[in-house]
Amino acid sequence: MEALTRQLERIDGRGYKAYKSIAGEYRFDGFSLMIDHVQADPFAAPSRCRAVIDAPVADLPASALRSEPRRRAARDFIARAFRSASGSDKALAIDAGHQTVLDRTATVLDDGAVEVRFTVQLPARGRTILGRQARTILCDRLPDVVRAGATSRRLDLDALETHMARVEDQVALREELARRGLVAFVANQSVLPRRSGVDDRPLEQAIPFQAPESLSVRLDTPNAGPVDGLGITTGITLIVGGGFHGKSTLLSAIAEGVYDHIPGDGRDRVVTDPDATKIRAEDGRAVHQLDLSPYINHLPYGKDTQRFSTDLASGSTSQAAALQEAIECGARTLLVDEDTSATNFMIRDRRMQALVAKEREPITPFVDRIRQLRDDLAVSTLLVMGGSGDYFDCADTVIQMQGYQPLDVTREARDIAQAHVTGRTEEAIDALDVTPRRALQGGRLNPETKPGKTKIQARGRDTLIFGRTDVDLRAVEQIVDASQVRAIGMVLGRLARRGERVTDLPALIGEWLNDEQWHRMSQHPEGNLARPRVSEVMAALNRLRGAPFES
Ligand code: ADP
Ligand code: MG
Repeated sequence: MEALTRQLERIDGRGYKAYKSIAGEYRFDGFSLMIDHVQADPFAAPSRCRAVIDAPVADLPASALRSEPRRRAARDFIARAFRSASGSDKALAIDAGHQTVLDRTATVLDDGAVEVRFTVQLPARGRTILGRQARTILCDRLPDVVRAGATSRRLDLDALETHMARVEDQVALREELARRGLVAFVANQSVLPRRSGVDDRPLEQAIPFQAPESLSVRLDTPNAGPVDGLGITTGITLIVGGGFHGKSTLLSAIAEGVYDHIPGDGRDRVVTDPDATKIRAEDGRAVHQLDLSPYINHLPYGKDTQRFSTDLASGSTSQAAALQEAIECGARTLLVDEDTSATNFMIRDRRMQALVAKEREPITPFVDRIRQLRDDLAVSTLLVMGGSGDYFDCADTVIQMQGYQPLDVTREARDIAQAHVTGRTEEAIDALDVTPRRALQGGRLNPETKPGKTKIQARGRDTLIFGRTDVDLRAVEQIVDASQVRAIGMVLGRLARRGERVTDLPALIGEWLNDEQWHRMSQHPEGNLARPRVSEVMAALNRLRGAPFES
């Protein structure tokens, strides 16, 4: 630490470039500071540093190391504690999470030693180094923030235990789903609505969730014991109900149930099949070499839909594409909301069948394929549909949302389906089979803006900049954090560097994102990544214009 103090005093008042001289490793009382990368000027991205706190100094409780979910939760908790100790002036910053507990690279646990990765905005007046101010940040404030964020003497150990227990329970609940024939579980007393589209915290004074008796299940957790709630079984589940009664809110909470949430989020006991994928329409997106023929066929002027590509998909085409892509990735649960669906993809009623002959309608609606998905491909669908009763015939379970509460109306819906037959003609006469499109020429994915200059960058949660192209991720709803977008960019970069032909893309990406490889990747001092799912990496690739897929 003395060496750093002296050096900062020595360069005080000099040009900003002289900061480069502080890169390196310094020993502090109880921890080591690594200054890995010094920013080139005051306006560049802040300098990247790490603090490695000795195990006896961190002195984490043994319960923090007991299981993988607990370790992840402890790392998440430490990043949050570091963030709140560093205050609001942004001189010291860490990439800690918000409502979700993702697998982030901001902290690493190695046995009991804690590595915290953060950034420092090295101070200047104009381009002149403010060495004394830098000394205050790095040599006075930082040791205090490190102690507050990563040592058991200063951490709130009760809150840490709650954080870890809640995450461990969510993982256990999620693992229990498949064994119990469920695709999702929503515990009683959950709070599902959010404050606003830009504020993901729970809505205050929301009405808590309560499952109807007939759809209740009890699942066990290692910390909280048995938990009661709504079990959504495999097969076809319909969520119906009047507008504004909470259908979409329930579906969104379930879509986010693939991730763990912090205690108090309200969705911290809402869990979903980890591969469940939200399917939606997204007109304007790109589609590459996909077989859309089960849903869209005989386009005017004979355009091929078995290897369909476009730079400007329509609503129905984009939704069919999302469906095929999810199945390619191995999804066994689809989540669909009428609010984000193309009507002509979802339904085609008797009157329309009478007016427009099947031969003149390229679309085979989802209502005619949904059973085949269940029976032939073992793919479950959870569908919000308040606008049409044509799905009653195929639903295994029908849940009505009424005043934000779920009711079991399966029997009534079935009776109605018998009393009022739709008179529709079944349009799916052929078998449903999906030939996955998995090959890609890695070397033709080019993130270069100029020769030798690659640019891969996240612009918030919504956009991945990949070389000269921007990938619009707004409709990829199960991306929940900008740090996932950075990680997606990193994976695509690795794919581009690989050069050779990849024959099984989801499998390869799955390998890169498995526990071992992800943790090895996080050995790089990169502190602002969060692990995405394979399907979100594929979603970015699928939307990248000019991506070199092969059929
Ligand atoms: P639907 O999809 O049935 O039309 P939404 O799910 O969009 O309804 O919900 C309508 C409104 O009700 C939203 O503003 C949402 O935040 C609010 N809301 C949903 N669930 C609850 C709840 N449990 N308590 C209070 N407000 C809720
Ligand atoms: Mg809705």
